[in-house]
Amino acid sequence: MSIEVRNLNKRFGPTVVCDNLNLDIPAGELVALLGPSGSGKTTLLRIIAGLEVPDSGTVLFHGEDATNTDVRDRQVGFVFQHYALFAHMTIFENVAFGLRVRPKATRPSEKQIRAKVTELLKLVQLDWIADRYPHQLSGGQRQRIALARALAVEPKVLLLDEPFGALDAKVRKELRRWLRRLHDEMHVTSVFVTHDQEEAMEVADRIVVMNEGRIEQQGTPDEVYDHPASPFVLQFLGDVN
Ligand code: ADP
Repeated sequence: MSIEVRNLNKRFGPTVVCDNLNLDIPAGELVALLGPSGSGKTTLLRIIAGLEVPDSGTVLFHGEDATNTDVRDRQVGFVFQHYALFAHMTIFENVAFGLRVRPKATRPSEKQIRAKVTELLKLVQLDWIADRYPHQLSGGQRQRIALARALAVEPKVLLLDEPFGALDAKVRKELRRWLRRLHDEMHVTSVFVTHDQEEAMEVADRIVVMNEGRIEQQGTPDEVYDHPASPFVLQFLGDVN
């Protein structure tokens, strides 16, 4: 499902957090919102998710105004930095959760739930720990489960807020590959927030560079890297090297 952001504005008190943002995300792309802390990435993601209301402007899902659509009806999956797995549920039940809480009319049968959860656990190669509890897993494994859980409800859009931020460098690298692999498998339109240039460059189809509530540049990793559109982008990317 494509996402369009039109003339989006948001302030918190005197702070302009989204400054007339316009953005097109084609269906099936994996897009990184990249920028320093405080540049408005999370707020933009939360507005796309329907968790935050803009002061003005619209978000279109597949060409339709999603502004007034309840967050539960947006068919959005989330992965956050601090894996919100349910501690008292097994890994299997964590992944199954979104399917079990569906209204009766659209809830899959127990057999269908088993099949779906097993398929996803195999996809993230963690089917062998289905009966364990979250505290028995490593941080990296937990985030793989968080990805599987988000995908279980077959979202049209997957939103990830610094999904690997709490993990060490080696595990982050491994999870980038997981995210890319899952995306190539499922083709869900995905937006992920990061302040890590290398992460954005490695994983994303397209990078949106943000600074002080504005979009400085958007393009493929090569375009952004080879032709930085502003001194800010040049400096921000330069920080890696
Ligand atoms: P980023 O994700 O790029 O770090 P955020 O969207 O989290 O940026 O924040 C952008 C700015 O908005 C920051 O200055 C932050 O302090 C402010 N902000 C974010 N959420 C709130 C809120 N609920 N109330 C007040 N200020 C907020």
